Amino acid sequence: MKAKEQALFIQEQVSLAKYTTYKTGGTAEFFCLPKNIEEIKQAITFAKENKLDFRILGLGSNILVGDLGVKGLVCCLKDFEEIKIKDNTVYALAGTPLDKVIATSILNNLGGLEKLSGIPGSVGGAVYMNAGAFNSETWANIISVEVLKNGEIKTIKKEAVKPSYRKVSGLEDCLILSATWSLKTPADKKIREEILEKRKQKQPLEYPSAGSVFKRPQGDYASRLIDICNLRGLTIGGAQVSTKHAGFIINYNNASAQDIKDLMTEVQKIVKEKTGFSLELEQILWGKFKNS
Ligand SMILES: Cc1cc2nc3c(=O)[nH]c(=O)nc-3n(C[C@H](O)[C@H](O)[C@H](O)COP(=O)(O)OP(=O)(O)OC[C@H]3O[C@@H](n4cnc5c(N)ncnc54)[C@H](O)[C@@H]3O)c2cc1C
Repeated sequence: MKAKEQALFIQEQVSLAKYTTYKTGGTAEFFCLPKNIEEIKQAITFAKENKLDFRILGLGSNILVGDLGVKGLVCCLKDFEEIKIKDNTVYALAGTPLDKVIATSILNNLGGLEKLSGIPGSVGGAVYMNAGAFNSETWANIISVEVLKNGEIKTIKKEAVKPSYRKVSGLEDCLILSATWSLKTPADKKIREEILEKRKQKQPLEYPSAGSVFKRPQGDYASRLIDICNLRGLTIGGAQVSTKHAGFIINYNNASAQDIKDLMTEVQKIVKEKTGFSLELEQILWGKFKNS
């Protein structure tokens, strides 16, 4: 292994269950938690010199890791965290929880992000996925993001990317380092409280999950289609279609990643047979699931 001496913070065979909200799945062959850009660059060099796949993990709230784990280096940005506020501009490093950015903005009477309250991802994950809720999206008030691309730090202005539903073109091969928002309206704390309450009422927050499993199909809702098929409560191993919200699969009882994946496939199959809709995964699968 080259460059390992310089990258002492890189660990081997680390379970990713602790770093993902499904709380299951296998290990990363190599893993690190960089605290600054220098360490992120060291991690990239380590992966390059050892010809390892390189993956970025935020807060793991949209990822299912296979039970047989992930080859290569997983670089988790959870400790790469900072928020700075100046006038009506909010700047946050990629590992900062999005919800912390929202709470801090509101404390500073800066509004515009309230409807994204309760999304459990990092700034980097939210920017990459264009996370959204209640007719609001992460990119709505962003003015620019800083990224690391081909070893260089670049600022990408909003005009240079194309955010759409859970996808942003223009960020390919970019490691998002930070985001800057311009928030021009006064904050509305009540909206945040209402949204957090709605999430508590409607979503199975008492169980590990990774939010909505499937993307919204054109002209419909995945949860409505799953409901038509009467699939709430459908269980495979320790994984269950939530009885509280049909769009969620929960880790109900020590589910393996394979249980969850099998349940995803079963739901897709039944929904296709009964409604004709092909549900596309919103969640991202990492690594190896079955011995084959
Ligand atoms: C209870 C619950 C409710 C949820 N509600 C919503 C919701 O209302 N709306 C919504 O959109 N989502 C929702 N989600 C899903 C999830 O929180 C979002 O997709 C979130 O944006 C993922 O962020 P993350 O940091 O956890 O990313 P991860 O899951 O760690 O990663 C997701 C993807 O982003 C990439 N990525 C992460 N950080 C970076 C970075 N710095 N640079 C480049 N790529 C990066 C990863 O490589 C991966 O491809 C919910 C999840 C849960 C568990």
